[in-house]
Amino acid sequence: MYDINTVRKDFPILGREVYKRPLVYLDNAATTQKPRCVVEAIANEYYSVNANVHRGVHFLSQQATDLHEAARETVRRFINARDVAEVVFTRGTTESLNLVASSYGEAFLHEGDEVIVTVMEHHSDIVPWQLLRERKGIVLKVVPMTDEGVLDLDAYEQLFTPRTRLVCVAHVSNVLGTVNPVKRMAEIAHAHGAHILVDGAQSVPHFKVDVQDIGCDFMVFSGHKVYGPTGIGVLYGREDLLDRMPPYQGGGEMIARVTFEHTTYERLPFKFEAGTPDYVGSHALAVALDYVSALGMDHIHAHERALTQYAMEQMQAIEGMHLFGTAPGKDAVVAFNVGNIHPLDLGTLLDRLGIAIRTGHHCAQPLMQRCGVEGMARASFALYNTREEVDALVQGIDRVRKMF
Ligand code: PMP
Repeated sequence: MYDINTVRKDFPILGREVYKRPLVYLDNAATTQKPRCVVEAIANEYYSVNANVHRGVHFLSQQATDLHEAARETVRRFINARDVAEVVFTRGTTESLNLVASSYGEAFLHEGDEVIVTVMEHHSDIVPWQLLRERKGIVLKVVPMTDEGVLDLDAYEQLFTPRTRLVCVAHVSNVLGTVNPVKRMAEIAHAHGAHILVDGAQSVPHFKVDVQDIGCDFMVFSGHKVYGPTGIGVLYGREDLLDRMPPYQGGGEMIARVTFEHTTYERLPFKFEAGTPDYVGSHALAVALDYVSALGMDHIHAHERALTQYAMEQMQAIEGMHLFGTAPGKDAVVAFNVGNIHPLDLGTLLDRLGIAIRTGHHCAQPLMQRCGVEGMARASFALYNTREEVDALVQGIDRVRKMF
């Protein structure tokens, strides 16, 4: 069973103090803390296995390669991809999105073709498409949302034209916590002959994400938000699409044969992995995925949903509280402002109480504009957070509120 006190012991950092107060870490949408097994996997690999992967004839290189490729299989299983050829290691969500914009953009998008994004996308799912717009003259269209933070699916469907090629949507909003109906959105996209990319940065850490069940063409996520290390992430792509896309970067690892006249490329997924990969990071990510799998994604989800609901109820009772994002079934993120208190002041004063939240535009400035604010405060939960920590947040906010 899911015993929160046992779970917390796996995360040494949770035991530390800041400003002589116990740390209350509620900035998990930015990055999660790491369990001991992940940190030890990194140290152990450097201590006892380290060697560059692929093509090495010696023992260590083969062992490191085995760990790296076993990690790819772990990721495949975790997201239920059909084949390891569909699992590309990248530096993270941002690089995965830039890879698709660059390579899919090169293969499939021409002047006047349309890409649909949503009003709640992270900048990393907006700016690469704008860069492509500058290069190729594609058209960007935006799915609107209701005041509760629910995407308007009728408006979404009306955006499609015969020129629509691709839809890009966050599975879970990093600000509103809205869980978008990506399976339904994929059906609609496909009915219109378009592809769909799901940004899983905020869903993969919280509940079971099955790329075949969703029916998406691409899915991206970051290791560091799912208890793995920074600097490693994943691009899932359907094999037939990846096959038709050109390499993103050139270099070692991604080639089959090079002459000055002509170069042929490696098979998938290596075609997209130029240079020495983060093979320690991939293994540590696999350890993190095994860790959450052993706890059970369903248990994690239930725990976090209950915590989010509790937090919403408790926070609503605070005078002057404005919560952003009240979609049914919202997940693990609570964005808010209190009265006229600037979110930066709120965050700074909460920090002095040992409570780590994030403030600002959360890399979603168009969403801030839609909500009519410059910024917000945001508390975001992970598998190790407790009701007592939510209570500390609520008491902290109330204390700050009384200072103004
Ligand atoms: N998309 C979403 C929904 C996110 O929450 C984030 C991280 N805040 C990103 C993309 C970017 O992730 P990374 O910085 O790890 O590349």
